[in-house]
Amino acid sequence: MIPKDHPRYKSLIRRERIADAALKGIVAMEGVGAHGRGEAFDYLIGEKTTDSALLAEKTAAALFLKAKNPVMSVNGNTAALAAEEIAELQRASGAAVEVNLFHRTEERVRMITELLEDAGADVLKGEFERLLPLSHDRALCLRDGIYSCDVILVPLEDGDRCEALVNMGKTVIAIDLNPLSRTAKTSSLPIIDELSRALANMTEFCKTLSDDEAEQLVAGYNNRYFLESAVKDIVENLSNALD
Ligand code: ATP
Ligand code: MG
Repeated sequence: MIPKDHPRYKSLIRRERIADAALKGIVAMEGVGAHGRGEAFDYLIGEKTTDSALLAEKTAAALFLKAKNPVMSVNGNTAALAAEEIAELQRASGAAVEVNLFHRTEERVRMITELLEDAGADVLKGEFERLLPLSHDRALCLRDGIYSCDVILVPLEDGDRCEALVNMGKTVIAIDLNPLSRTAKTSSLPIIDELSRALANMTEFCKTLSDDEAEQLVAGYNNRYFLESAVKDIVENLSNALD
């Protein structure tokens, strides 16, 4: 048991969730490594939502509210860490939820779907087709889901698929703690924040944003600003770290 008064309680709980999910086969072993990189960047960023990340989350909520067919693409790490938050964001935004895996097996798709459904999410089902221009199994998606969406949220994505989705003309919102990753750089809107914090903030904004505000946010955001702000925050944190 992790004691509740441990100063890094939330981080340790997340690590425990990833470990449990890996033992069940929900998270791939590679996903355990990816989580570790995320933890390291969260440490550097101060394990909190920065001002610029909060603005990115507000803008992401606006993009969802203004979209015709918004979709959230969910992988094993995302389901293990934040199935409830995905379900809540779906309720607040009306976005569809589709499972998309790098290390894909039918068994993993089934387990992740079940985990999301137990948390209250409505998960798209149907015939998965190779519709994305990628050579691996992440090309598999649903014609009425990821293939035809206009706005897509890709938490913990790999750079290749992010780029392929942008090249298909989609607005791609990435959640990735690493501002140097290809995913963050190639996305339309990078949210440089921890997954569950980012999803919870997006849900709040979906509930409170006015139509006018949403319109303004969608009209004037800039990928580079969010990357630069995150790097600045990390540099500032590091230079004060030993004071
Ligand atoms: P690429 O450069 O192609 O984008 P990558 O180096 O980012 O690849 P991946 O394994 O594709 O590596 O992605 C994992 C990413 O997810 C890492 O950048 C990591 O920082 C981020 N990440 C992991 N866990 C979390 C989390 N809980 N919240 C936010 N980001 C996370
Ligand atoms: Mg990445």
